Parts: sequence; C-alpha cells; structure tokens
Amino acid sequence: MGAVSVVESLSPTQIAAWDGGETAVAEQVAPDVWAIPVPIPAGTIPHTLCYALLDDRGVHLVDPGWGDETGIEALTAGLLAAGRALGDVRTAIATHFHPDHLGAASVLRGLVGARVVFSSVEQRVLQSETSPAATDAPAYRATLREWGVPDGEWEALLASFDRPSLVSSAAPDQVIGDNSVLELGTHRLRVIATPGHTDGHVCLVDEERGLLYSGDHVLPRIYSGIGIGTLPGSDPLGDYFASLDRLAPYDRYTVLPGHEYSFRGLDARRAQLIAHHLRRTAEVAALQEELGDAPVWEYARRLTWTAGWDGMRGFWLHSALRQTALHREYARTDGARERLAVAAV
Ligand SMILES: [Zn+2]
Repeated sequence: MGAVSVVESLSPTQIAAWDGGETAVAEQVAPDVWAIPVPIPAGTIPHTLCYALLDDRGVHLVDPGWGDETGIEALTAGLLAAGRALGDVRTAIATHFHPDHLGAASVLRGLVGARVVFSSVEQRVLQSETSPAATDAPAYRATLREWGVPDGEWEALLASFDRPSLVSSAAPDQVIGDNSVLELGTHRLRVIATPGHTDGHVCLVDEERGLLYSGDHVLPRIYSGIGIGTLPGSDPLGDYFASLDRLAPYDRYTVLPGHEYSFRGLDARRAQLIAHHLRRTAEVAALQEELGDAPVWEYARRLTWTAGWDGMRGFWLHSALRQTALHREYARTDGARERLAVAAV
C-alpha cells in the first residue's frame, strides 16, 4: 500500500518507471555507484534496485535481485551501461534473505565466483525458514487453530500456504554483524543491524559518500511488511521501531532503498513509518480492554482494513492475521505502552 510521499525523490526516471509499472533503466546515483533495476517475476511490485559499487578491481553488488534468467540479463545490461561486465562482480551482499534481494547471489557465485555476504542473524533466520517445521502444513494448522480461524476459512488459507516458497536457499561465504565494516575498494560500508522486516535485516552506511543502503527497512512510499522471517521469541514490531530510531544519525544522507526510488528526507519518512504502525498498535490496544485474551481472529475482524474485512481471503487474510498477531503481542509490552504514551495516537 502506497502513501503520500513525504520525501524528496532524487530520480525522476526511477519514480516514473515505478509508477508506470515498468523496469527503470540503470543509472548512476552517486560517485561510482549505479542503481540497476532487476525485475521481480509475477510480483506485486516491478523490480528490486540493485546497487553496483564500482572500484578498480571489480564490482560489488548490494541486493543483486531475483536470480532467474531475466534477472541475470538485467544485471548484465545494467553493468554494461556502467562500463563493466558480469564477470567483474566480486561480491554480492544482501540486506536480507528474501529472494528479490538475495536470489541472484548464489547464481553469481556459480557463474562468476562472487563472494556471498549477509548477516549472521539472517543466516539463522534462513535456516529456520527452510526447516521442515516452517514448511510443514500441520504446523500451520496449529497456528490457524491458535488464531481461532473458523473452519470455513481453512481451505483457502492452507492453499495459499502451498504457494511456492518465498525463500531462497543460499549459504554465505562471509557473515557480517552490527557495526562490521566492509572494505570494498573505495567503498567503506558500515553495517547497521535493523531487524524488523526480517530479524537479520541490515542497512549499510557509506559515511564518505553520505549514502544509506536501506534494503526494505525504509522505502519512500511502500510500507514493507514486518516480521517476514523471524526467530522464535523475537519482537519484530519492537525491533522495527528501534531500528528506525537507530537511523537518526543518517537523516541527512541520501537513501538508496531496495525498491521505488532514491530519496532524501529520512527523518520525515521515519516519523511517518512509526506513526503508521503505531496507529495499528493503538487500535489493538484499545480492543484489548474488551477482548482480553480472545484469539487473533476476534481482533482482526474488528480492525479497520483498507480493502475491507469481508471478502479477505487466502494470502491477504493470512497477512492480516499475522499482522494482527504481531500487534496483539507487541501492544502488551512496556515498550509499546511507552511509545503510545509519547505519540498519544
Ligand atoms: Zn524486497
């Protein structure tokens, strides 16, 4: 779902292509940094922005994108526009494990020997997401029971659960953690752990160029999902808010996000993202007095949904229930009470 833009777009071509549902052309976005749009097959969004960091010895990619033939062709053409070749790629770094970011990494390792890099937490998330328990329909049935989903809805939900896995399997050659520094020729990237979208999501900061590679943690208009890849016992919403606070030192930086377009105005966007999610937390907290320990289903049907609650089916229903479960959990924490008191939403 898009929102009114509170940021300053830095690329008219990227914004026009995105709004037209087309794949943008590769373009230089900073000294020795190119943005290469890599298509997402049959997706709800057109492409991922892969960033190619050029140096004398080769090319380093941040979020190489989807790893199918079309994706590799887009990378090849984009690198050609930047005066480089696919064979120059030395490193493929992913901000998180989703296939529209990490997908092409292992393909590039196979094709040109690229070193695959992502966070050690994300490595554990990926392992748990691909574990038998995570892909097991009986385990999902137990979740539906716990959520209090009526019998009539189960079939469509279980069918949506069977859709092709959104997980790419890739083992890293190098893992990074909070505050690690990647020295990539003239590009010095500091790793900032930003859990929320996934537990192991990271942003990368180039202090010299004033750049923030934000992955899916902060996009200019899209509200990316929260908790799409977690470890047991994590608090994705609490983490997400804290991860937005952590970016305050970079409010004046140019943001290079995983989708849409590069922008300035991180402070305004951070505030907008926090307010958006806190409104939902406040809505759930208000229901808690009345509903108490009622199952997730009872909460979800009482919340306001842009597309309406009746008629919500399959994957969208699953997302709504999952989001409700996260807010119901988070609303009970001291952290939530403090944030709600300050925001007075
Ligand atoms: Zn993404």
